[in-house]
Amino acid sequence: MTRSKNTEKIFFTFYGTFIDTPEFGVIRIRHNTAIGVCMNSTESADKYGTIKFIIENCIDPYSATLEFDSTLTENNIKIIKSSDPRKTCFYFPGFIDTHIHASQYPNCGIIGDNSTLLDWLNTYTFPTEAALKHLPYASQVYYKVVSNTLRNGTTTASYFTTIDLDATKMMAKICSKLGQRAMIGKVCMDQNSPEYYIETCQESVDSLLKLINYINDELCDPLVKPIVTPRFAPSCSSDLMTEISKIAQKQSLHIQTHLSENFNEIKWVKELFPNCENYTDVYRQNGLLSRKTVLAHSIHLSNKEIDIIKQTHSGISHCPISNTTLTSGECPVKQMYLYGLDKIGLGTDVSAGYSCSILESARAAYSVSRHLSIKQNDPICKLTIKECLFLATMGGAKVLDMDQLIGSFEVGKKFDCQEIDLQSPQSTIDFFDWQVLGNSTVAKKEPQLDVQLGEFDTNEILSKWFFNGDDRNVVNVWVNGKKTSTV
Ligand SMILES: [Zn+2]
Repeated sequence: MTRSKNTEKIFFTFYGTFIDTPEFGVIRIRHNTAIGVCMNSTESADKYGTIKFIIENCIDPYSATLEFDSTLTENNIKIIKSSDPRKTCFYFPGFIDTHIHASQYPNCGIIGDNSTLLDWLNTYTFPTEAALKHLPYASQVYYKVVSNTLRNGTTTASYFTTIDLDATKMMAKICSKLGQRAMIGKVCMDQNSPEYYIETCQESVDSLLKLINYINDELCDPLVKPIVTPRFAPSCSSDLMTEISKIAQKQSLHIQTHLSENFNEIKWVKELFPNCENYTDVYRQNGLLSRKTVLAHSIHLSNKEIDIIKQTHSGISHCPISNTTLTSGECPVKQMYLYGLDKIGLGTDVSAGYSCSILESARAAYSVSRHLSIKQNDPICKLTIKECLFLATMGGAKVLDMDQLIGSFEVGKKFDCQEIDLQSPQSTIDFFDWQVLGNSTVAKKEPQLDVQLGEFDTNEILSKWFFNGDDRNVVNVWVNGKKTSTV
């Protein structure tokens, strides 16, 4: 039997309310909207999972799909409607975690009240990372961290693992298996590290090259990419930084590291690299700053350093939870934005950050900006909900130099999406009839009530989610159009 021409065609059409933040400070709300996603298994990787049409004010998503492509039939089209037509359900772009240490996941919530960066690394972090060379242990940890981030709506994450090659390969495989878009970074470090957890420059370069080959030539999953990962300047010799920057340049790879997190760290970097003008200059001189570079923290930067970051088009990962727990400082995100540095996203920085949730990091960014505003007696420092949600999605996409691909709902972008239901069965958010049913007279019926209580609009629903939501409100997650499952 010959198969008809269109049996290979598969089209998913998602229907409901779509909310995203295409620009800093702008929320876009599209009700009754149909988004068509090409899911033909025979399509090339760049087309599969791509948004083909967006139709607003649509009544019938099925007819809308046929209008887009009249050769489709019932068998080729799958309509996916938002779990419930209630106004408390919507689709939102998947979160982007621009800085997370997968290997530190077992330590989530274990910080030590008096820890600051450098002692915390020695007490908690290095022993845990070193232990992950044991693959059964690494497997448990990596499955859990990928599952938990997905459950919290993170569709893309830029991971640090450990110095161990085999465990890092395993992490790449797990991301591929569970369907998360991921950058996988084997940590490179050849100095100022414990003797039980260090590598030579040559070992570091060799295992980085092996990891790149494995991901690109063996794993071959377009969602999973290697990222060159010098831990931070104190633990990397200039030779190592230069060598791995050459690899990154040659293969056009992403780079991630830490920058200007803590005052003692900054002082130490000054002593270790006396010929560099400042901390940021260490990375510039060693060839590590490019438009594909992610700089975590970047709290205590001078304007000169911000200028270097702007000139090189590198991005900053703001990690407000970790910056608070380790008492590192308050990154002046809004001021940097106003100064023209517009590549800033959010990082959970697990495990100095105690939560895998980017929504929780977005709330922390909101709070930290307010504390900064109080401290400096300047309202300009304050981030709005819309701005924090931008950092969580489009901001992260820009930092990873992937804003043409992910971060918002646009034709030509990949369908990376989380479905939010504020009244999901497990949700702890309470709503009252007059708030969501369009029936403000319900409250009025109470004779002693002489005020009119209004119904929530979508911005208020969004605000409820921002402050009160958690993984129990994430009812579905799709990456590249494909529904993800967790373990
Ligand atoms: Zn970190």
